[in-house]
Amino acid sequence: MTEDKPHIMLVEDEIHLARGICFNLEEDGLRVSHFETAERALATLEFERFNLVILDVMLPGMDGFQACRAIRAVDPRVPILMLTARSEDSDRVEGLENGADDYLTKPFNLAEFLLRVKGMLRRSSWYRQDPVEEGYRFGDNEVFLLSYRARTSQGEIDLTEMEVRVLSLFFQKDGQAIHRSELLQSVWGYSNDTETRTLDNFIVRLRKYFEPDPSHPKHFLTVRGVGYRFSREGEQ
Ligand code: CA
Repeated sequence: MTEDKPHIMLVEDEIHLARGICFNLEEDGLRVSHFETAERALATLEFERFNLVILDVMLPGMDGFQACRAIRAVDPRVPILMLTARSEDSDRVEGLENGADDYLTKPFNLAEFLLRVKGMLRRSSWYRQDPVEEGYRFGDNEVFLLSYRARTSQGEIDLTEMEVRVLSLFFQKDGQAIHRSELLQSVWGYSNDTETRTLDNFIVRLRKYFEPDPSHPKHFLTVRGVGYRFSREGEQ
């Protein structure tokens, strides 16, 4: 029975906080393995896979940013939630640039934390319906959502779970403006009106992967005051 529970890796050196997190996640029916250092967590990743990684930035030894890159090298897909201690923007951006999928600034509200975890764990079924892997082409790119891969002009890349979710939504709504709140809600499971840079940093990432000139995007377009719009054709 326990094998069916989503298994979460928590890397956090503050014992009281870690205990609180473990207790609450377990109350919610999740299985949690707690590690006090990134080194120990990485050693475990050699032989075990997790459904979600919760990673503190400030750790003794290897810090959360380095750990994030190392985890990505072993498991390119697993959703990673970073816990940042400072409220500085640069910290969040750095986490997202190192391959994290979302961040939460300490001290955080427990209810918000639990919502975020559940949102990231929720598996969407709509992009898994087609058992035949057919690449989705746009520009010089071909994206394979089922196998989390993409061919781009820069070569082949691995996609994370969250990147696949964002791309699926964009591909389904080709040409339509999608509101920020809809993206945040359907991809990350945010409740309404959460102030976050996660989405914008994700778009920066997608542009780097797929746009010939990321500073002049043709496919992942900003719609001022609304959100973003994907254009398969590409716009000049
Ligand atoms: Ca810490």
